[in-house]
Amino acid sequence: MSDSDTACATGKIRLFVGADLREDGGVEFSRDQTHYLVNVMRRGVGDTVLVFNGRDGEWAAEIVKAGKRSCLAELRTQTRAQDQVPDLHLLFAPVKRARLDFLVQKATELGVAAIRPVRTAHTNVARVKEERLAANVIEAAEQCGRLTVPEVLPSLNLEAALSEMGTRKLMFCDEGGNVPPAAEALAGLERGPWAVLIGPEGGFSEDERAMLHARPNTAAVSLGPRIMRADTAAIAALSLWQAALGDW
Ligand code: SAH
Repeated sequence: MSDSDTACATGKIRLFVGADLREDGGVEFSRDQTHYLVNVMRRGVGDTVLVFNGRDGEWAAEIVKAGKRSCLAELRTQTRAQDQVPDLHLLFAPVKRARLDFLVQKATELGVAAIRPVRTAHTNVARVKEERLAANVIEAAEQCGRLTVPEVLPSLNLEAALSEMGTRKLMFCDEGGNVPPAAEALAGLERGPWAVLIGPEGGFSEDERAMLHARPNTAAVSLGPRIMRADTAAIAALSLWQAALGDW
């Protein structure tokens, strides 16, 4: 372990930053990050923070200025080389706020590359705040040690989201019965670009199910005999996909 690792073992604050990260470079933390580092976590000059930007790996940065409004750090050593998560998107019909926060945080921890809210016939949440999704994926990525932050794709209706996907393979979580169990359905399928689709609390309409069953490159799967809430179903589906076709 390097010195910087040891220093961080006491607190291990990891922050996502926009700046390029390189030898002899520096970072200026945002107002919110400064508040968090200086006022909340009581970090000061000489303390080490881990930073990542989704492109240049993870770096240990030493704080060289810690003011009330601005905090600067100098990059010391690269602690991890950049890596990528599997090319997996999560498409989900938005649920109410607390469950939505939970869902996008867990999806980030489970290693999705992108998330997209989709409107369906029975979606009962009118609008999702994309800034809120963005804040949630960043926080979860910082906390779980990822080197990338999932992309938050603009919300679309189901048909548009499917056409946007092109030939990307789809794991369609169909609570409607008469489809094979997920583990069985995914076994032996090709890796590559995939998406998982989770429906709204009200379920998919019959038209939507017909459209999904007719789509090429689509594996309709069951997640067992119980109907799960959408957030639970997303976690179960992403776990099964990661185990069968991802990086677990
Ligand atoms: N139609 C249901 C509720 C849908 S649950 C009802 O009102 O009775 C929300 C979403 O979670 C579903 O659309 C589906 O994508 C997923 N889901 C939940 N349980 C599932 C299961 N046992 N198998 C497959 N998908 C499931």
